[in-house]
Amino acid sequence: MRITQIVVFPVPPRSVFVRVETDEGINGWGEASLEGHAATMVTAVQELSRYLSGKDPLEIERHWQAMYRGDFYRGGPVLSSAISGIDQALWDISGKVAGLPVHQLLGGRCRDRIKVYCGAGGNSPSEIKDSFRQAYEKGYRAAKFCPVDATEMLDGLDVIRGVYRRVHAAREAVPDDFDVLLDFHGRLAPAMAISVIDAIAELRPFFVEEPILPENVPALAHVAHSVKVPIATGERRYTKFDFREILEKQAVAVVQPDCCHAGGITEVKKIAAMAEAWYVALAPHNPLEALSTAACLQIDACCPNFLIQEQGSLGDNVLTEPFVVRDGYIDIPTAPGMGVTVDEEKLASMKWEDWVTPRLWHEDGSVADW
Ligand SMILES: [Mg+2]
Repeated sequence: MRITQIVVFPVPPRSVFVRVETDEGINGWGEASLEGHAATMVTAVQELSRYLSGKDPLEIERHWQAMYRGDFYRGGPVLSSAISGIDQALWDISGKVAGLPVHQLLGGRCRDRIKVYCGAGGNSPSEIKDSFRQAYEKGYRAAKFCPVDATEMLDGLDVIRGVYRRVHAAREAVPDDFDVLLDFHGRLAPAMAISVIDAIAELRPFFVEEPILPENVPALAHVAHSVKVPIATGERRYTKFDFREILEKQAVAVVQPDCCHAGGITEVKKIAAMAEAWYVALAPHNPLEALSTAACLQIDACCPNFLIQEQGSLGDNVLTEPFVVRDGYIDIPTAPGMGVTVDEEKLASMKWEDWVTPRLWHEDGSVADW
């Protein structure tokens, strides 16, 4: 079996699908999304297709190594996301050839269904309360929101009290067995993050994601070791090499590699195993499209330290059979490969509009962290 060509599809609002085609008519699908950089990703995948054309698609590890190590420049969001989408598609082909879902090729399932959390939100405490109440009434048992706005490196009591009021509104809206997850989007500096987390610790958030930017691991570890709330990070870290220091410095309780950014199914399975050795849980990041969700579910099914899955798209727009959330869980897909079928007619009819990452600004006009 040989790879004949790789076709790339921008999928609105901000995703990129990859179809790896073979000379035996079996095609594999993956998602090589990088939010706000669809055109870049189309080009990055096309560059990798020069190497992959004519290769055996079943030699996934060899190709991962060749794409990552063979290219001299390695890592980072663009190159790692391109590898991720192709890697998923190669796993999809392998599963289809074997007649087995990908998780079966990775050791088999170690749970029966996948717990998911949904996004919630709003700006005012009453909007947040309504949003969490709705998530609870839909059957979810966990939801995440961002309670912080653009914040100065040190900011005042009104900012800290504002965050407290929002988290309190969420906590009040749902019973104790419903988990409130927080994402700070890396908006705070370490001292401010510690002050804010101290103020909300009594509300027992399930975890705080990206309390500060993840690129300085000692700073992240300082925050994690200074607070009594579990810290999660990972969407902006790529490959096992970025996660090594995070784990060794014990900077997180939860790793959140993104199957579309961190290096695909091959790499996220390895990152999960590294985390397992540090007693750190896995909660794959997934705000993206349905193939991202599909890749996450295959990983979740077979990783013992899996904790909870960010829901992402269920594929109503692009899968022949979208995922179904029942009582806050998704059943583990059993069909071969990634376990989903892309509706190519729907895909062809989509109108692409380039999504641009919105900028955040402080009141004095200076740039704020996202
Ligand atoms: Mg996040």
